[in-house]
Amino acid sequence: MTYPDSILYQVTKPARYTGGEWNSIVKDWDKSDIKIALSYPDVYELGMSNMALPILYELLNSQPDVLAERVFAPWLDMEAILRVRGIPLVSLESKHPLKDFDIIGFSLGYELTYTNVLNMLYLAQIPVLASERTDSHPIVIAGGSCVLNPEPMADFIDFFVIGDGEEVLPELLDCFRDWKAKATSKQQLLQQVTTIPGIYVPSLYQIEYQADGLFKGIIPTVPQAKPSIKRRIVSKLPPPVTKPVVPYIEVVHDRGAIEIQRGCSRGCRFCQAGIIYRPVRERPQEEVLQGVGEIITNCGYNEVSLVSLCTNDYPDIDKLVANLIHRYQEHNLTLSLPSLRTDSSSVRLVDSLSSRRKTGLTFAPEAGSQRLQRSINKYIPEDEILQTAAAAFAKGWSSLKLYFMLGLPTETLDDVQEIVQLVDKICSLGRKAKGQRPQLRVSVSTFVPKPHTPFQWVSQASQPELDAKHELLKQGLRRTRSRLSWPDPKVSLLEAVLSRGDRRLGKVIYRAWQLGSTFDAWDEHFNYENWLRAFAESGLEPAFYARRERSLDEPLPWTHIDVGVTTAFLKQEYQRALDNRETPDCRNKACNACGLERWQPECQQKHQKLS
Ligand code: SF4
Repeated sequence: MTYPDSILYQVTKPARYTGGEWNSIVKDWDKSDIKIALSYPDVYELGMSNMALPILYELLNSQPDVLAERVFAPWLDMEAILRVRGIPLVSLESKHPLKDFDIIGFSLGYELTYTNVLNMLYLAQIPVLASERTDSHPIVIAGGSCVLNPEPMADFIDFFVIGDGEEVLPELLDCFRDWKAKATSKQQLLQQVTTIPGIYVPSLYQIEYQADGLFKGIIPTVPQAKPSIKRRIVSKLPPPVTKPVVPYIEVVHDRGAIEIQRGCSRGCRFCQAGIIYRPVRERPQEEVLQGVGEIITNCGYNEVSLVSLCTNDYPDIDKLVANLIHRYQEHNLTLSLPSLRTDSSSVRLVDSLSSRRKTGLTFAPEAGSQRLQRSINKYIPEDEILQTAAAAFAKGWSSLKLYFMLGLPTETLDDVQEIVQLVDKICSLGRKAKGQRPQLRVSVSTFVPKPHTPFQWVSQASQPELDAKHELLKQGLRRTRSRLSWPDPKVSLLEAVLSRGDRRLGKVIYRAWQLGSTFDAWDEHFNYENWLRAFAESGLEPAFYARRERSLDEPLPWTHIDVGVTTAFLKQEYQRALDNRETPDCRNKACNACGLERWQPECQQKHQKLS
C-alpha cells in the first residue's frame, strides 16, 4: 500500500516515506516466512544515521526466509494526514502496513523517543499496551542502549534483546521458526524466548515495591524465566556493513561509516556506553581498509566515518588513516573521526586528513578542574589541554568547540569557575597564535546519572543549583566572547527520570503520549507541562526518580539486567570518585576486574596474569 502522491505533495521531505533508495532490499513478501519491521522512533534523517540499523537490516535479510524492512516515525505533517484519513503506517520497502509483519523491532537509543514508540504503534493500528495485543498482532520487541533498564517501557514491549543483536538474533530466529511451524500461542512463544540468554520478557516477571514506594525486587512468575538476564556480547566483530542503503535526502551523518572498534576501556565514570559496550573489540586494519573500499564502490561516498567511542584509541590509528588515504587517493577520500581524545596527537591526526578542512575541531574535557576530572576518571593534565589547543591554532584552526558537563557529582562553584579559567587560557593562546580572538563554542550539558554506571546512585543536581552554575559560566565566559550553548535542563530531568525509572513509569509515558507528547527530543516539541500532568495523574514525582540520592543498598529496578560489570566494581568506582582517585585504563595496563573477567576469554587471560 503506497502513500498516494496526493499525500506526499502535502508533506515536508516526501523522500522520508518513498523508499526505493539505492541498496535497499525488497524481497518477495509472499515467499518470506518471517517478516520483520525494523523501526526507529524518530525521523528518517536520524534513523538513517544510526549504526545498528544497517547491521540488523543486512543480517536479517541475509537469511533466505526472513524479510526485514524499515520504518521511521512520521513527522507531524504526515502523522496528521494518516490520522485523519485512517491510513496505517507502512514500511518503506514493500509498503505493507506494520500490522501485517510478524515482528516489529524498535531501536531504543534515547529515552526521549519513548512516546514515539507508542505513537508509531498507534499509527500502525496496533494496540499500544502489550497486554492488549492478541495472537493476531505482531510481536513487539526492542533493543539498544536504553533497554539496559527496560522497566519504563515494559508495558509496551513483548520482549527486550539485551546486548549485541548479532549474537542473539540467530537463536531468536530459530525459536521463532519453530514457533511458527507449531502455530502455538504468543504466550508459548514468550515462554520459549525467555530461555534464550539475553532475552527479557517483562510480562513473565512480577515487580514488588516497599510500603514507602521504593522498588523492592523483581520475581520471575514462570520457571523458564531467569532471575538475571545476561547481556549478550559478540566476541569478534562481524564483517562490516559495506552496502548500506544510500538516502535520497540529506541525513544527519551524510557519509559512509565503518565501525573500527566497539567498546571503550577508559572507564569515565559518567559514561554509560563505556560500561555497557565493554570489552573493547577491534576490527583488524585490513578489514577496515577493504571495507572502506567496498563502501566507496557500493555507495559512491567519498567521505567515510571511522566510528568508535574513542577513535584515536584504535591501535595504530595514524597508520590506518595514512593507509586509507593512500589506498583511496584517486577517490579523493575524506575521513571523518567523530570522537577524539583531547591531546595533541588528535590535532596531528585530524591535520593529516586534509589540509582543506580547518572549519572546526571538537574536544570534550567535560570538567574544568583537575580535581573533578580525576573524580570522573577523565583526567587530562591542563598542560595537555593547552598544548592541544595551541597545536590546533598553530595548524590553522581558528574555531574550537569544547564540551563540558554541569552538575557532575561532587562539583562545586569553584569547579565551574575553573571551566571559565580554562576557556580564558585557551582564548589567550588563540589570540597569541592568530593575532585575534579565536572562535570558541562552549557546549554545556546537564549531567544525567545513568544505570549501570558508578554514578547510578547519585541525585541529579537541582534546578537552582544548575541555574547558579549556569549563571556563573555565562558571566565568566562573557570576557572570552565564546558562544555558550546550554540545552533546557528540564529535558535532562526527564531523561534522568526515564533512564533510572521503574515499571510504574509506563503509565506516565502512556498518559504523556495521550496528552499529545511525541518528539520529546525535539526542543520545539518538548512539552514539559504534559509530563508534569502525566506524573501528577499517575501519583508519581519526577524528583523521586531523578533527584534522590539512593542508598548503596537500595534495590535498583535494573539490577536483574547483568551487563557483565559487577555492582561491587561500580560501588568501588563510586568510592574512588568521592576520593578523587583515578582508575587506570585496562587496555594497556592491568585488568581492574570489573566483572567481565567472569565471562570474556580475553579478560580472563588478562585477569589471570594479575594473580
Ligand atoms: S575484565 Fe578487566 S580487562 Fe576486561 S574490561 Fe574489565 S577491567 Fe578491562
